[in-house]
Amino acid sequence: MNCEREAEVWRAIEARHWPERCDEELRAHVAACESCADLTEVASVLVEECDEAVRTAHVPSSGVVWFRAQMRLRQDAARTVRRTISAMQAAAIFIAVAGVAFVVNMYGGFASLADTVGSIKLPLSVGVALALPLVVLLAPVAVYFAVSKD
Ligand SMILES: [Zn+2]
Repeated sequence: MNCEREAEVWRAIEARHWPERCDEELRAHVAACESCADLTEVASVLVEECDEAVRTAHVPSSGVVWFRAQMRLRQDAARTVRRTISAMQAAAIFIAVAGVAFVVNMYGGFASLADTVGSIKLPLSVGVALALPLVVLLAPVAVYFAVSKD
């Protein structure tokens, strides 16, 4: 700001008082001050553009605004619930895997499990027989990562 009265001129323009409803002394100052004259020229154009934008803006009806707000509220609530459910599913999967590992460890570990599975006469090899429960346990995890968007 070069002139100490620019703020006063700006307030008059912003309040849509410039130039008709301003006092004669302020108009005389703007006519004599180059800085304030530039300010009125630029700010008047900006204020006119703002007024034109407000006049031509398409404002939706209150019903449409309310409907959109309700939709957004429901979508936000659903997103929050989905996030909570996903976290609970992940926790349940982790607990299930930990539980299986604990039970296997309690009954002698994976080597004992392999011996037990090996003693059972299955048409499958021991590796496949051990891999099948892992696939069953890890499938929900894969589905979780496949369908989760967040
Ligand atoms: Zn001035």
